[in-house]
Amino acid sequence: MRVELTEVEEDIALTAAKFAQKEVAPLGGEVDAGDRIPPALFELMAGLDYLGLCVPAKYGGVGLGLVARTLILAEISQRLPAVGFALQVFQLAISPIVRWGTEEQRGKYVPPMASGKSFGTMTLTEPSGGSDPRGIKTRAEKDGGIYRLSGAKCFITHSRLADIHIVLARTGAGVDDLSAFIVESSMPGFKVGRLEEKRSLRGCEYGEVIFDGCQVPAENRLGEEGEGLRIVMEAVSEYGRSGVSAVGLGIISGCLQVATEFARERVVGGKPIIEYRQIKEHVQEIEKICRGALEFLLVACRMVDEGGRADRELALAKKECSEGAFRSAGLAGEVLGGAAICEDFPVARYLRDSAALFAAAGTNEIMELIIGKKE
Ligand SMILES: Cc1cc2nc3c(=O)[nH]c(=O)nc-3n(C[C@H](O)[C@H](O)[C@H](O)COP(=O)(O)OP(=O)(O)OC[C@H]3O[C@@H](n4cnc5c(N)ncnc54)[C@H](O)[C@@H]3O)c2cc1C
Repeated sequence: MRVELTEVEEDIALTAAKFAQKEVAPLGGEVDAGDRIPPALFELMAGLDYLGLCVPAKYGGVGLGLVARTLILAEISQRLPAVGFALQVFQLAISPIVRWGTEEQRGKYVPPMASGKSFGTMTLTEPSGGSDPRGIKTRAEKDGGIYRLSGAKCFITHSRLADIHIVLARTGAGVDDLSAFIVESSMPGFKVGRLEEKRSLRGCEYGEVIFDGCQVPAENRLGEEGEGLRIVMEAVSEYGRSGVSAVGLGIISGCLQVATEFARERVVGGKPIIEYRQIKEHVQEIEKICRGALEFLLVACRMVDEGGRADRELALAKKECSEGAFRSAGLAGEVLGGAAICEDFPVARYLRDSAALFAAAGTNEIMELIIGKKE
């Protein structure tokens, strides 16, 4: 099934491609070396409304859909996957407040997040295993007008940069007694633990968050007690999985571009290497992966934009795009030969960054379980 883009979506993709080429592509070496995305880049993206893209205008956004967001994330990720990854977390953290928050919570938290004055996190994973959210141990004990949160989370994107955190914690003894909270970094008992040293997605920070009897006002609970898992998983499915898929799609498109150009220009044995059967097949395979990934992802996003649920389709897209990105980076590496690991080309970075996409927003083994579920 082919998804037709609207004129607005085509314009959005074109603007994003120009922005990414001008402002993001030149930063690759600097972001890798310093393991830091310059704050000025977030300001530029805020100026283009990229941080609050799917947020209703009433709360400071532009109210666009998942297809538009995907096109922007893919263009940016093609130039530098870490920037696309960092950007997709904004909407991931904002969306539960937009959908489930009270009018007070929306008015207080959404506009600063949509404009980049605040950074948000989605704080779920614990050392006991991210694949089993029902097993989380962080507790939230009600104490008069506050909840006291105790526990630790890991692998949290923007853990140190962010000041607003969507946190899943246990409010009862049953497996599903989980509730969601909006926690500010300034609340007593909130601590940031260590940042992970990583080789993938350098520049996009990722680390521990600790709740040491963290005092969270009761009015910061999101939704009712016991609704937490549904609230956060809805956001992870729609915004996390589509976001990670878009990063994968960007990597696949980047691999196609670099492999095609290199294969046409590189002359070995008296002819361009694209004329060798195996090289041509490598390029054609990346092209095929690219078409498939784009289709899976846009179909899923369009379903959501049209008001439907697409958990299964998004899981499928996430698996296709993340596996496709890793496979494409390997194939592009074969086309480039020894040049694949040189800084002049993004292929080694694509390979490193695509490895992060297997686990982000749920591992592909978990995606298989979702895909296999009966409707
Ligand atoms: C780049 C990146 C960014 C991330 N950002 C965030 C973030 O912002 N917030 C956040 O909360 N988390 C974040 N995470 C964590 C991510 O959600 C988890 O890594 C993921 O859910 C898997 O959890 P785990 O790493 O603990 O693996 P585990 O759950 O320990 O799994 C280990 C292996 O066992 C397999 N496995 C586990 N259970 C099953 C099962 N039932 N059936 C089959 N196989 C199974 C898994 O598929 C995996 O292969 C991020 C991860 C990455 C890589």
